[in-house]
Amino acid sequence: MTPGTLAPYAAHDATSRGRRYPEAPPEFRGEFQRDRDRIVHANAFRRLVYKTQVFVNHEGDLYRTRVTHSLEVAQIGRTIAAALGLHETLTEAICLAHDLGHTPFGHAGQDALNECMREYGGFEHNLQSLRVVDLLEERYAEFPGLNLTFETREGILKHCSANNARELGDIGERFLRREQPGLEAQLANLADEIAYNNHDVDDGLRSGLIDLAQLQDVALFAVEYRAVLARYPQATPRRLTHETIRRMINRIVIDVITTTRARIAAAQPRDIDAVRRLSSPLVSMSDEVRALHLELKRFLNENLYRHDRVIGMTTKSRRVLRELFEAFLADVNLLPAEHRNAALEAETTGGVAGRARVVADYVAGMTDRFALGEHRRLFDPDVEA
Ligand code: MG
Repeated sequence: MTPGTLAPYAAHDATSRGRRYPEAPPEFRGEFQRDRDRIVHANAFRRLVYKTQVFVNHEGDLYRTRVTHSLEVAQIGRTIAAALGLHETLTEAICLAHDLGHTPFGHAGQDALNECMREYGGFEHNLQSLRVVDLLEERYAEFPGLNLTFETREGILKHCSANNARELGDIGERFLRREQPGLEAQLANLADEIAYNNHDVDDGLRSGLIDLAQLQDVALFAVEYRAVLARYPQATPRRLTHETIRRMINRIVIDVITTTRARIAAAQPRDIDAVRRLSSPLVSMSDEVRALHLELKRFLNENLYRHDRVIGMTTKSRRVLRELFEAFLADVNLLPAEHRNAALEAETTGGVAGRARVVADYVAGMTDRFALGEHRRLFDPDVEA
């Protein structure tokens, strides 16, 4: 298949399951192109610039932030989509939107907010991404949120508890029936993993928290590194590192393309609905590369994400988020007028849980630096409120 040709099992604009609020089709764009464009124009997308991936935004200008991470996910996703005959623009839309609901301070922020919300239905950044595009963005006169197609929303909602699934209607059904999302959604999910595992090696090395010697025990890295070193013995360490990571990504991408092609050929899905009915995803790494990838993941977990300096930052971030949440929940007058009104209104219908949800939406939407600024405003006696 020529790259870019849509396969029958891909998502197609013409057979999209549509938008929650019906709209006339766009004149000069496809449906998924419109989704992608709406995501790029969203406030939540611009906020990703100042949200942590692993390193807090102010630690250095070259580290990944949520927005550069999302762009790398989209790049990897699009490459694989084109090679497999999947819808490249839908893949891109899902990749760009996948982290829209992320809290400030990366996973530390998400964990802290989830703890705060335990009695009020919990907080999950993946579900929050859907909430952002379905409800929280205010940009269009005729509907709340971005009114995206079912396929993009299906891709954003990667996982979901049975309880939440029941409340979500059609988009939650597949979790109850144990079905799959379309291939573009499966791909975006895997592209996310490929992107962060590889770029975290780069960011980790740049920060000095991990070093080249340690990485010699990680096969995926070591094999490529030795090959690059043998071929370019004079290359500077920076070039060696980047050439190695580039080759790692390339190896995994090629592996996903060939493995997935074979799985599609074996399953022979007629269309996207046949893909959805399968009991397991088709987009996948081979067993061999998955094992190597898991080894890299474990290495990053033990040596980077649990490094003293990262843990120190994590502990501080959790405290900041928890204290912000508690302060706003206890006194909604501390919120900007618009959010205060929303909180009071939600409380009349949903009780304290309703108020808490509005506070969680507000806190989750903050960038790292805004959250730190708000924390100073509320808790530092020297700062004027
Ligand atoms: Mg991500």
